[in-house]
This record gives sequence, structure tokens and C-alpha cells, in this order.
Amino acid sequence: MAESTNCKLCDTPLGLKIISPLAGEEGVLKISITDFPGLECERGHRQFVSRDFPMQLLEQVTGGDKVGLPAGRKQGLIFKKYHCGKCGELLGADGEPRPFGFDVTVAGATKMHVELAVPVYKCASCGQEQVREAGEIEGLAPAALAHAFQAAGIKPQA
Ligand SMILES: [Zn+2]
Ligand SMILES: [Zn+2]
Repeated sequence: MAESTNCKLCDTPLGLKIISPLAGEEGVLKISITDFPGLECERGHRQFVSRDFPMQLLEQVTGGDKVGLPAGRKQGLIFKKYHCGKCGELLGADGEPRPFGFDVTVAGATKMHVELAVPVYKCASCGQEQVREAGEIEGLAPAALAHAFQAAGIKPQA
């Protein structure tokens, strides 16, 4: 079925709208996207270019190893501590936020640039740089993206 070319809220024509930047965060993860392609009507209502666009984008953002750093180890469920993944030393309380940028193309749309910012921890004992926990970025990315879409007023298609 073809995508509707009129806004579902007010029925005026939709056109391509490049939203830049689009940004959201969740926990320690910040995501910002430049040149994000969306649809906007004459009255400023926004929606995704296709129904499954946000899911495809999420897969591109979390697929592969975008950060390319080893991970530390988490200890404890309530009072969490993080240890160096290499030597086991306790990691410092605060990592240094570092951006990791890459280009993403979701089928049928233009190229976007995505930047993930996460804290990087350098072990005081062995010097290894690492993120504090494997899988943490993948776990936070859906909520961070949802916050970015909400902030830009982009609604999922009904
Ligand atoms: Zn509208
Ligand atoms: Zn270490």
C-alpha cells in the first residue's frame, strides 16, 4: 500500500523535511542525528517517511560495534560497580564523555549522520579504555531515540 501524501491530522499535503539536528538522551547515552529526513505538512505536523523507518534506524544505530571499545564488567544489581574488563580494577565514578560518529542510510531515504556520546573509562591501573558495560548502548538506544523523536514532534503513523 502506498504511503499517504496528506497529513493524517489536518489533511494538508506532506513534504520532505530535513530535521537537523535531532537529539535525545537516556541514561549515559546521548544520540544526535543531523540531516534526519522526515515529513512535514503545511501546518507543521511531522511524521516518519515510512512506518518502519524508526525500527530500521534503530537497527542501523545499534547494529555492529559502533563504539569499537572493550567493555568493563558490572557488579551488583542495586549498588552497581564497574570493573576494568582487562585487569579487574574498580573503574572511576565518572567516565569522560566521548562522541562516536557514523553515517547511516535507511532504505529509500537520504544519508544521515549519527553521533553517539557515551562515557569512556580509562582504567587507573592498566590504562585500558573502555565503556563500562557490554550491551548498555543497545539497551539505552530505543529510549534515547524515542526522546529525540518526541522532542522534534515526530509522531508514529497510526
Ligand atoms: Zn498536518
Ligand atoms: Zn585495568
